[in-house]
Parts: sequence; C-alpha cells; structure tokens
Amino acid sequence: MLIIFTGNGKGKTTAALGQAARMVGRGKKALMIQFIKGPWKSGEDKVIIQKPENQPGFELRKRGLGFVGILGDSLPIEEHQKAAESALREAETEIQKNTWDLIILDEINNATHLNLITADEVLGVIKKLPKEKFIILTGRDAPEAFIKAADLVTEMREIKHPFNDGVMAKIALEF
Ligand code: ATP
Ligand code: MG
Repeated sequence: MLIIFTGNGKGKTTAALGQAARMVGRGKKALMIQFIKGPWKSGEDKVIIQKPENQPGFELRKRGLGFVGILGDSLPIEEHQKAAESALREAETEIQKNTWDLIILDEINNATHLNLITADEVLGVIKKLPKEKFIILTGRDAPEAFIKAADLVTEMREIKHPFNDGVMAKIALEF
C-alpha cells in the first residue's frame, strides 16, 4: 500500500512517525529513511537513533545534506543529487529484503520536486514493494505521478501557522 502525506501545512513527518509508532506497537518493523534532512538534529533522532533500545523495530536513517538551494546552502546541486540517489538505492535494497512492514521515505516528495531524483526512478523502486507491506512518502509538492499511483493520500493544508506571524521554529514542537 502506497501512502502519501503532502501539502503545505504542518504534520507530514510527524504523522509518519505516529504511524510508525502504531506499527511498532503491533510488533511490526518500521524504517524511516530521510531525504534532504541530515546535518540538523531533531527531537525524534534522540529517541530513535541515539536510544534504539527504546524503539525496538524502528530505525531512522538520515541520508540528506540539508536545505537545497536555500538558507545558506553552499553545496553544488550534484552533491544533493548524489545523496538522494544513494538514499533511493538504499530504499530499494531495504524493500527487496522484505523485512520491514513499513518503510517511510521522508521528504522524498520535495527531493523529487527539486529534481534530485526523478518521479519515474522513485516509482520504479516502489513497484518492488510486496503487496502486504506499507510505504509512506512525505513532503510538500508530491508529484502528480505519485498521487496517481497511491492508495491513500492526505494533504496537510495550512490554515494558520505561527511562522507567518514571524514566530521562528520552536524546539520540541518543530524539531
Ligand atoms: P512536521 O515535521 O512538524 O510534521 P512537516 O513534515 O509537515 O512538519 P515540512 O514541510 O517537512 O513539514 O517542514 C519541516 C519544518 O517546517 C517543521 O519544523 C515544520 O514544523 C515546519 N513547517 C511545517 N509547515 C509549515 C508552514 N506552513 N509554515 C512554516 N513552517 C512550517
Ligand atoms: Mg516533513
């Protein structure tokens, strides 16, 4: 089953994390591979990566290099493309292992929208997912081809966000 969380409102990555918690609570195994996100540490990294004994069956791997083309990013786009390509290959390997019940490809919608990888490449990898397993793609700007291929799509639509009133990202709420 292919699930997509997209849209410009808050809640995509955290919804995926919640879904992973529910899976793990049922004795299933979940893996989150993050695109774009990498150098910056977020609250969930502390429970999942640094204390894996707290979360048996849930693994989080950060495979991105940070913001792409904004907020002081000085890396050539090729570096971001290489990282995204390699994360996608890793996802393919994990899908083919057939050991994870849920695989989350976090921010892969943005990575595709930013042309780090192509929608066709991503769909080619997802096609290999066994029928009884779940995959979640998160991030703004999900390509139309992903939405077409998906079984379940939720759009987080921004109605209000404190950022628009000049409030900066809050620790523990946003990262
Ligand atoms: P979260 O990780 O909180 O579930 P998200 O995955 O939906 O958010 P992203 O598009 O991945 O959101 O953006 C990541 C960061 O931007 C998070 O800190 C998030 O809180 C924040 N954010 C999300 N939506 C908005 C918005 N509409 N305006 C400003 N900041 C936002
Ligand atoms: Mg997100």
